[in-house]
Amino acid sequence: MSSMWNASTKFEEDLQSGRVFHAYFLSGPEDEALRLLESWSRRLLCHHPVREEKGLVPCGRCLSCLAYLAEGHPDLYRPKEGAPLGVEEVREAIQFASYRPYLAPRRVLILGPLRLMGAEASNALLKTLEEPPPGAVFLLYSQNHLEVLPTILSRCRRVDLGGEGQVEKELVGQLASDIRALMAGDVTAVDLAQRWAKSYQEAPLVEALAFLARDVLAAETGGTPDFLPRETSDLASLWEKGRDPLRLLMDLRHQLAFHVQAENAFLRFLLSLEGSP
Ligand SMILES: [Zn+2]
Repeated sequence: MSSMWNASTKFEEDLQSGRVFHAYFLSGPEDEALRLLESWSRRLLCHHPVREEKGLVPCGRCLSCLAYLAEGHPDLYRPKEGAPLGVEEVREAIQFASYRPYLAPRRVLILGPLRLMGAEASNALLKTLEEPPPGAVFLLYSQNHLEVLPTILSRCRRVDLGGEGQVEKELVGQLASDIRALMAGDVTAVDLAQRWAKSYQEAPLVEALAFLARDVLAAETGGTPDFLPRETSDLASLWEKGRDPLRLLMDLRHQLAFHVQAENAFLRFLLSLEGSP
């Protein structure tokens, strides 16, 4: 695949020139991104990469390579399978990054998918990327770069694998006005849940909600929203009183994935969004 080739080329150049960035962000299909990052991590961990026609490849013989092949490399951090990236895991990763490498020339962390990472986790990660621990390389990934705070992206060398999910501005705008109506009491959570449940099979409604939540957070933290440039400030209260829309969305996604009736799942989401704790 050509996009994959381009992505590797960029990294290859950094590796060969010895100017490895402290953070890379890959957007695109998550399985593909993860496979590519695994192969990058091997080369970052090897002490004596061998120059071949296609670039530098791990030697397969140094202590670090042997540890990798034994699947227990002490300098490699991998995401836990299937688990959302919560603040606990991010903190764990940050601590991991702060130690000196045992076997490899550096510590390598694969972290992701970053989608639906809550505000607390995002901020913790951002802080670390702003002042990265020496000798650590963060390899981050997610399906779509719009799912990630722009302030995080700006700290990374970005590589796009192609195939980012498409969400229309109109849909995000529609959801924003739905939520406004809910907050104003112009529509009930029950009615709205019914309406959303009908349309979510055809439209990427949950993804659009994630972009909406992310835009509101971006506006709040001084970043630039992608979908709703000026209209987000009145939705800022979504983030007040300990409500974290991204966390609520994570619950929503889990419920839908485990076949909770869509209407009930949306209702629960909207009630949590609306209700005071
Ligand atoms: Zn090696």
